[in-house]
Amino acid sequence: THDIHIVGGGLAGSEAAWQLAEAGFKVRLSEMRGGGDHTPAHQTDGLAELVCSNSFRSDDAEANAVGLLHQEMRTLGSLILTQADAHRVPAGSALAVDRDGYSAGVTGALAAHPNVTLVRERVDALPDGPVILATGPLTAPALAEAIGGATGREALAFFDALAPIVHHDSIDMEVAWKASRWDKGEADYINCPMDKDQYLAFHAALIAGEKTPFKDWEQDTPYFEGCMPIEVMAERGVDTLRYGPMKPVGLDNPKTGRWPYAVVQLRQDNAQGTLWNIVGFQTKLKHAEQVRLFRTIPGLQNAEFARLGGLHRNTFIRSPELLDTTLRLKSRPNLRFAGQITGCEGYIESAAIGLIAGRFAAAELRGESLAPPPPETALGALLNHITGGAEAATYQPMNVNFGLFPPIPGRTKKADRKRLYTDRGREALAAWLSPRPPAQLP
Ligand code: FAD
Repeated sequence: THDIHIVGGGLAGSEAAWQLAEAGFKVRLSEMRGGGDHTPAHQTDGLAELVCSNSFRSDDAEANAVGLLHQEMRTLGSLILTQADAHRVPAGSALAVDRDGYSAGVTGALAAHPNVTLVRERVDALPDGPVILATGPLTAPALAEAIGGATGREALAFFDALAPIVHHDSIDMEVAWKASRWDKGEADYINCPMDKDQYLAFHAALIAGEKTPFKDWEQDTPYFEGCMPIEVMAERGVDTLRYGPMKPVGLDNPKTGRWPYAVVQLRQDNAQGTLWNIVGFQTKLKHAEQVRLFRTIPGLQNAEFARLGGLHRNTFIRSPELLDTTLRLKSRPNLRFAGQITGCEGYIESAAIGLIAGRFAAAELRGESLAPPPPETALGALLNHITGGAEAATYQPMNVNFGLFPPIPGRTKKADRKRLYTDRGREALAAWLSPRPPAQLP
């Protein structure tokens, strides 16, 4: 018997299991690797395996949102961070680990915990009772099918088609302007104009740019046509982009009173309006190429990217409309989601969402309710993005970054801003953790 069933012993499931077990609840943790099943990316049977890089990225808690998230997770007793710290290898200001030692550490800690039953089994149907689903970007097909049945098929994606996301305050609005096509409705888009020479040079550079190849197992994943990379579109003909995502019709440039030859459009990506995605610009170009090339777009010459474009296999649900603020499926509240399947992106983000899912579930099992961490914290900012801050219709996986935080009010020097974010985040976490003052008597 158990109090809660966690499916998936990856980054998120391991962390959720630890939080619940430490809170005193009996956890059944089902992991299919080691029980005769594999994913196309994992190499071992170890829990919380790092499938690619061995880095948890920046550990700088003063000037980096990822570093702040590390610090918050340490404060919250994260198993992933404890084991990462114990198996750290030199990597400058980044937190990189000996991947085998780290994964063995996570596996050992959970297997030895008296409240955890680790079962090497594949789960094919949605279990009854309180469940956390943490099966990740490579969720096994039968369970993915069952999840699609519960969420609606159209709310479950199998591919990231990541368009780059730009910090709003790095866009040059002297060059770009806000408008909708034919001036219809609100001026919803930021438009970056190109003349003919700029367009032709950009088109040629897209075709010449260095790309990341698809992995073999990604080739056969369905739904690929719906999210064609911009450079593949460019290869179809010199004008294909001008008739597609770079179509200038109905967009009078206020500087010239005329339509430009081509246009790059950005659309608001979060409720705060701090992040804007480049519409239709999903791409397999290498990251350095993207930065170089996209900064040749007029208005984006100083662009700072919150996320670069990409295209790879990834199972995730449209969380902003499906999940409540504590990660429960609204239509089936005994089912919680955690990790990359919620649409966060990255090892540490997946573990962080596992951590908070575990804490929400523990509170619920105690008959209490836990307020989400405030959006000024890295954990709260990421959670808020997933459960409502992001636009549901264009929802795509996201790393933690300062663009997800509520903006710092007033004018601040750019050099000071990061520090203001992290100081404010630490205060907010402390306030969230401190016991609530007794209720006021009337
Ligand atoms: P996972 O860690 O994948 O855990 C899910 C677990 O569920 C797996 O152990 C799986 O075996 C198990 N499972 C699946 N279905 C079932 C089932 N039906 N029954 C039982 N168990 C099941 N992020 C980075 O930060 N850096 C990187 O370098 C990086 N590289 C990546 C490379 C690839 C190829 C992919 C796919 C993703 C990469 N990511 C990277 C993104 C992301 O951080 C990782 O995928 C991360 O492991 C996600 O954590 P998770 O806990 O959500 O899922």
